[in-house]
Amino acid sequence: KKQAMIRNFSIIAHIDHGKSTLADRILDSTGAIQEREKQEQFLDKMELERERGITIKLQSVRLPYRAKDGQEYILNLIDTPGHVDFAYEVSRSLQACEGALLVVDAAQGVEAQTLANVYLAMENDLEILPVINKIDLPSAEPERVKQEIEDVVGLDASDAVLASAKSGIGIDEILEQVVEMVPPPDGDPDAPLRALIFDSLYDSYKGVIVYMRVVDGTVKKGMKIRMMATDTTFEVTEVGAYTPHPVILDELSVGEVGFIVASIKNVRDTRVGDTITDALNPAKEPLPGYRKVNPMVFCGVYPVDSSDYEDLREALEKLELNDASLSYEAETSTALGFGFRCGFLGLLHMEIIQERIEREFNIPIITTAPSVIYKIFQTDGTVIEIENPTLMPETQKIDHVEEPYVKASIMVPNDFVGTVMELCQNKRGNYVDMKYLDENRVNIVYELPLAEIVYDFFDQLKSSTKGYASFDYELIGYQTSHLVKMDILLNGESVDALSFIVHRDRAYHRGRILVEKLKKLIPRQMFEVPIQAAIGHKIVARETISAIRKNVLAKCYGGDISRKRKLLEKQKEGKKRMKSVGNVEVPQEAFMAVLQID
Ligand code: GDP
Ligand code: MG
Repeated sequence: KKQAMIRNFSIIAHIDHGKSTLADRILDSTGAIQEREKQEQFLDKMELERERGITIKLQSVRLPYRAKDGQEYILNLIDTPGHVDFAYEVSRSLQACEGALLVVDAAQGVEAQTLANVYLAMENDLEILPVINKIDLPSAEPERVKQEIEDVVGLDASDAVLASAKSGIGIDEILEQVVEMVPPPDGDPDAPLRALIFDSLYDSYKGVIVYMRVVDGTVKKGMKIRMMATDTTFEVTEVGAYTPHPVILDELSVGEVGFIVASIKNVRDTRVGDTITDALNPAKEPLPGYRKVNPMVFCGVYPVDSSDYEDLREALEKLELNDASLSYEAETSTALGFGFRCGFLGLLHMEIIQERIEREFNIPIITTAPSVIYKIFQTDGTVIEIENPTLMPETQKIDHVEEPYVKASIMVPNDFVGTVMELCQNKRGNYVDMKYLDENRVNIVYELPLAEIVYDFFDQLKSSTKGYASFDYELIGYQTSHLVKMDILLNGESVDALSFIVHRDRAYHRGRILVEKLKKLIPRQMFEVPIQAAIGHKIVARETISAIRKNVLAKCYGGDISRKRKLLEKQKEGKKRMKSVGNVEVPQEAFMAVLQID
């Protein structure tokens, strides 16, 4: 029976522990990739992903594998994104599997994301197979890491494969374990269709390509299907699987993983985690675990050149076609003109979209500091949610404000415990727990305001621990905080795009530092420019940028022409990312300066 020969599995790992390299090796060894088209890390598709070494879009590959028992198996390897921003997507792709390879770097050991991913795999009842990777490294300590997996993760690691994805050691052993230990899919072939969507991709010719795993029943070409959460119906025009090239199939049945095409125009109709059923013979219940993901981090995105506004709108429209978790709506800023307020799953997601707008669409943009969603409880009894600091009502109208909190796990070597606790304390963290992982390493748990994390928490954590800390977080809900809005005035005019929300106890300090920082960032103008930080009508800090006395070129008179040209080019370069605010030229960095205070 076909179903008995299927094995669906994922690879989970902390970033850089070798997930993509191992996936490539597995593809190689099952003969899935022809030599000539081999590229490093086949599963990481987008250029940006490859550069950053992260996986954003999930992919699945169907691999035929002849095992030592002489039987032919079908292995479906489902790739998962490698970053906390995409935790929900990771959990849905794990739901499509029966097993997961847990890759742990033999030199680094268990890290924060290792644990976070293991918990997601456990929630989905997966058979977890530990793999200790990078045993080729001189600093590899496979025995210590095995012990750590047992003690910290709580998994039996006695059969863990010792592997090197780089040198191709242990790959067959891993595949044999997948065949032996990962259970074949169960599910009822005669029940009405239920298929789990774990990703989708917009294709300009075919419309949305839906990646899914059939749980019950069968899906075929010509069938009328319904998405149970969004309640939309479509007719299937194509069914297939990736090998890794797309191959058209007659049908996909119980336990199989592949794609369908059904003239779907919008990725919003194909939500990750939703269940596809037969529209004419629908399932009674959808598969468990569907949830609509909402953006958590917002920022303003403005074209540097206001004539790029329509192009920017088109770019966002295109990006949104492929990214159901990106949101945007038009907004205007007195300082920056017409632009958009965009919502993202997290900071990385935000950076990726910003980079894609600039690289793929060639539109220079100015982005404002990220903000979270605040809940404002007003004195008249109403509650509003704001994701833009400028929308904060006047102080007299506010009863209290709530902000989102996360629970963060930070793993560090002993020596850095003090440093990390100080950092968390500085970021308004509440200590929750601390556990020793072994003699050398500690897991520290804090509750922290999300707003502090979307600032430069991660960078500070990395630099203060010499890169040793690993970090993971999940949203836990809202808590009351004493927050106020800080306005920044340039030349006496409040610049809305520079406003930010800050804890009352930190307001003076942040205002002071920001004003000093802006003084350094904003180039001198032909006139004196005062910079002020204000809470309501109260000025809390002030600096002055003095006027330029001479023409920039003056000092080059009679001098070297090439130097003069360089100077002019440099000015032009700077201009690209400058925005005139009132009559003051403000560079992009100024709008992000608030991120690098403390
Ligand atoms: P991912 O972030 O988990 O997908 O990790 P990658 O597969 O991108 O690997 C991260 C880095 O580790 C890359 O530079 C790889 O070349 C390297 N790497 C992966 N596997 C091995 C291995 O077995 N041995 C060694 N020495 N390096 C490896
Ligand atoms: Mg990777």
